[in-house]
Amino acid sequence: IKHLVWLRNDLRWLDNPALYYAALEGNIRVLVTATPTQWKKHHESKAKIGLRAGLIRRLFAKLADSGISAELITVDTFDDLPDALERYCLSHGVEHIWFNQDIPIDEQQRDQGVSQQLRGKGIESHPQSVDLIVPNAVLSQQGTPFKVFTPFFKRWLSLLSMQDWQPLPEPAPQGEALDFIEPEIHWEQTYRDDLWIPDQEIAKQKLWHFCHTKEADYQAKRDYPMEPGTSTLSPYLALGALGPRECLFAIQYVCEQTDRRWQDSIWLKELAWRDFYRQLMGHFSFLAMGKPFKNETDFIRWNQDEALFEAWTQGNTGFPIVDAAMRQLNQTGWMHNRLRMVSASFLSKLIFADWRKGEAYFMSKLVDGEFSANNGGWQWSASTGCDAAPYFRVFNPTRQSETYDANGDFIRRFVPELKTLDAKSIHNPSPTQRIECGYPSPILDYKAARLAAIQAFADLKEIK
Ligand code: FAD
Repeated sequence: IKHLVWLRNDLRWLDNPALYYAALEGNIRVLVTATPTQWKKHHESKAKIGLRAGLIRRLFAKLADSGISAELITVDTFDDLPDALERYCLSHGVEHIWFNQDIPIDEQQRDQGVSQQLRGKGIESHPQSVDLIVPNAVLSQQGTPFKVFTPFFKRWLSLLSMQDWQPLPEPAPQGEALDFIEPEIHWEQTYRDDLWIPDQEIAKQKLWHFCHTKEADYQAKRDYPMEPGTSTLSPYLALGALGPRECLFAIQYVCEQTDRRWQDSIWLKELAWRDFYRQLMGHFSFLAMGKPFKNETDFIRWNQDEALFEAWTQGNTGFPIVDAAMRQLNQTGWMHNRLRMVSASFLSKLIFADWRKGEAYFMSKLVDGEFSANNGGWQWSASTGCDAAPYFRVFNPTRQSETYDANGDFIRRFVPELKTLDAKSIHNPSPTQRIECGYPSPILDYKAARLAAIQAFADLKEIK
């Protein structure tokens, strides 16, 4: 083999720069490396690992159809990869290695380590596979990274408007179809594969269906967990089974068909948030080392009560919407965005537990766990991040529930012990109703907890 395409978090055959450009050269093979111990270190969930296994299998079958051979090797951690790749290249006579660049610090170090060890080979590393716009390109006029979303978004949009971002087609076929040989995956995990079908074609269909039928109503419906108002594409984006350029292309197409400006798409703005958090990770590596963006918040004395934390993880807080949210996460590997904010605010502001514990717990359950988005979402909720929620903004879980799950149907779905309660009482059942339904009393007093949190943040001003 002359050209080796090394795939990691880009498990797709469409719009895959490394794969596409290597295939133009001919004589290629795809190599996927699995690093189960590393994933564990990164708190990756069984759900995400399970989906990854399915996507690899599907990818290999598709590549075999196009005459491209593919192989999977499993090592423990990223540190094992330079040697493993060197051995592989030696035994197969590989001359060039192709991969798509990645941003998080461990991933960058992994790629530097491999490139260093294989410096005698041609290394072809491609940007623009995970982000819509690569982090170093979106800078202020002073050449500094943005720390606030709105100016970032303006610059990001103007860069997007400057050129055509057509996704790349499939790689050129490399001859006759090959027999598909199942990769041996001994780290496979079971997960809700009825919800997250491991197939990039399905993800693409889902994308187009969403853009044709729901994208225009996204702003009106996205906050209601019972409405299927969001795309639920995050697991595919997180594993690179769907590229962001595919999403942009679909938005642009659908907006053009309906006489709307694609730049005004509220859904596109969510993809900008994704890039925003990824660029923060690229520019401020301390974020990947457990540090808050706002230094002074490291002086907060978080509540270490394990029983309260445990009640939150298990969905037994006695706040129905928080419990429904946490049970959705535990049962499906996914949680609606509004509820991620409500439950993260509940843990970090009301229980007042260290947001890093919540971040790690989410990661260990989410099928779409993405370090930058998860860290960004947690630091936003805990008011420790840049451009975060102001510290005095503490979600009132009962008000959120009444507003976004007015009939209580979402609560009924995930907290079935409350299903007989009416739409009024289900958000905050009376003590008698709680006893009758076998549902716990609230683990904290909202008003008192809110005031204590605000005070703790206000006290930090002196440190600052
Ligand atoms: P849609 O509303 O359809 O949005 C489209 C895509 O845009 C998403 O698939 C996602 O890739 C991206 N996106 C949307 N919102 C955000 C956001 N706020 N930040 C970054 N990207 C965004 N998203 C993850 O992909 N992985 C995570 O680990 C993750 N953890 C989070 C933790 C917390 C505490 C919070 C508040 C948010 C988190 N998010 C995370 C962001 C968001 O909740 C999910 O992306 C969204 O719920 C996924 O559902 P969807 O695909 O239907 O999103």
